[in-house]
Amino acid sequence: MRCRAQNPNCGLVMGESLALGAVGVMPCYICCNEPHFCRECLCILCGKTMRCGSNSFTSVRCFARLPGAEFCGHGAHLTCALECKMAGVIEKLGLHMEYICRWCDQRTDLREHVVRLLESLRYVDCKLSAEANLNTALQIMQGTKADGAKKLLQLVETAAHMLQKGSGIHEVYELVHGTDPVVLLD
Ligand SMILES: [Zn+2]
Ligand SMILES: [Zn+2]
Ligand SMILES: [Zn+2]
Ligand SMILES: [Zn+2]
Repeated sequence: MRCRAQNPNCGLVMGESLALGAVGVMPCYICCNEPHFCRECLCILCGKTMRCGSNSFTSVRCFARLPGAEFCGHGAHLTCALECKMAGVIEKLGLHMEYICRWCDQRTDLREHVVRLLESLRYVDCKLSAEANLNTALQIMQGTKADGAKKLLQLVETAAHMLQKGSGIHEVYELVHGTDPVVLLD
């Protein structure tokens, strides 16, 4: 497969494709029928470029196996999925910190994304990105009834507030990781 969107940073070009490189993907006659749509690097919700590869925690890819043992492989920006009410805690859809794929309706657990968004504060040096990542993590957990996640949500809310009031990213990182987020979400 090659990138039909001509994106030089596409996982297919970089050889970093996690879903589409080696394994079979489900044929798609909707978005992937468009001559310039690339399943690897474009968001199925907004059609714009997503970051690819293993450090792509700001987007979510559907690894669902569909009949025929092929992968779905469609992806979306987390911010788009949250905006479209296809991710987060949504009782109506039975989602709990999950993403539902627009293409195949399968769910993806987003707890690892929350952890990686929070972990990003360790190396992000721009305040805007730090704030954006905290906000995305907050939105994924918003409305949760799980005790651990509620506790983490409060911590992240405090952290976001501190950042707004002028605290350094490092300070905020220390606060959020005072307790291990992985343990809280488990
Ligand atoms: Zn591509
Ligand atoms: Zn498609
Ligand atoms: Zn998008
Ligand atoms: Zn899917």
